[in-house]
Amino acid sequence: MNKKDLASLKKILIQKKMDFLNKMSKAQRGIYDDSNTSVGDEIDTASQNSEKEMYFELVASDKMTLDAINDALVKIEKNAYGKCEGCSNNILLERLKVIPWAKYCIQCQEESENPKNKK
Ligand SMILES: [Zn+2]
Repeated sequence: MNKKDLASLKKILIQKKMDFLNKMSKAQRGIYDDSNTSVGDEIDTASQNSEKEMYFELVASDKMTLDAINDALVKIEKNAYGKCEGCSNNILLERLKVIPWAKYCIQCQEESENPKNKK
């Protein structure tokens, strides 16, 4: 991978990281703000609860992506970025442009998602 590609992917990763941090702090504020709302009827409370659960799920999956982004940024510093953690082959640049925090090449990713297809 050339330096120009690496620099642009790094930029995307940092941008994504900021986006996630903003989104997560907003979601957390949303949860805390709820404690101040006056008690509504039961249907309102139920729908508020399911919204809260959605926030938690969102934050949990965002945290995983954020971890992967942080890992990718560390790897860039160590000059180890772009290698598959499964087979150590280089991950295709086309794939990294779509998912800059990808840890696995397409083959390893597919195998981990569909273990039954493994031959
Ligand atoms: Zn692989």
